[in-house]
Amino acid sequence: MERPISRKVSELMERMLLKERIPSSLLLYGPSGVGKTTGALIFSKALLCRNPNPWACGECTSCRYMDRFIKNLREENYEEISVYGEVAGKKVLLYLAGEHPDFMVLVPSPRNIRIDQIRELKEFAFRKPALSEKKVALIDDAHLMNRESANALLKVLEEPPEDTHLILVSEGKESLLPTILSRTVQIEFPPLEEEEFYKLLGEENRDLYELSGGSLTLARAIKEKPEILKIAEDILSSDPERLFLALQEADKLEDKKLLIYILEEKIKKSLLRGDLGYDKFELAMERLREISTALDRGLKLSLALLNLHILLEERS
Ligand SMILES: [Zn+2]
Repeated sequence: MERPISRKVSELMERMLLKERIPSSLLLYGPSGVGKTTGALIFSKALLCRNPNPWACGECTSCRYMDRFIKNLREENYEEISVYGEVAGKKVLLYLAGEHPDFMVLVPSPRNIRIDQIRELKEFAFRKPALSEKKVALIDDAHLMNRESANALLKVLEEPPEDTHLILVSEGKESLLPTILSRTVQIEFPPLEEEEFYKLLGEENRDLYELSGGSLTLARAIKEKPEILKIAEDILSSDPERLFLALQEADKLEDKKLLIYILEEKIKKSLLRGDLGYDKFELAMERLREISTALDRGLKLSLALLNLHILLEERS
């Protein structure tokens, strides 16, 4: 039976499911790559299952729809599960949903969770469930709501529809409004214990725990290509010689997108550690996303990364 990775979290969720006392709003928070989104999906599946025991049965229609959605999400078949709308004449992503009528996921698009996305959630929240007895809306990267969106969400949290559960997933709770925090039941996803980490990743990867800060997602990626991690560290270092060599290496890399990903993860960590201000973090993330898109058009990576380096080094 599928359960969240962390035993503590799994037991806590199981108690909620057994007592059928599920808070209308939950916040799952903790560092990246420790299974928060997976935990949220497994819990949602259990909430929506038509024969829960107390976790999802894995066989009913609801479970089958959820499995297909989760598979598409894991395999990044986003086109299969994207619902678009129009805002100011532009096509924008509203939310992710599969065949399950009672489940939706909001993700930042492109950088923030926009207010029109929260409006979609609100509409969803006030509909009657169609297949299951409940509905679940998941907000991934909830810390990327802007103030406008957060205030709109607050309205839903203040008068939650009885049969709808909201699950917020966030790397840190500090960046969420206190008024939102006070209306959610918070579940902390602790960093993976080294033991759990190696059980999932394999014993032979003894150095990856520290390198990835216990993030499975990051560890799996760099397990394949350890040299990329070194390049990322050198690009963020303030040593000009290391920087210079790393920029040269970056141009030669085959998997440039992985480098961008590692840089993103590292910059996110600096934000959470408080080493980087939010404004600069946003700029850096935007820069990295631009780089990532421009890569396909033959962008000169070393130049773009040099600019990123300068942006991060500048005193604000
Ligand atoms: Zn089921």
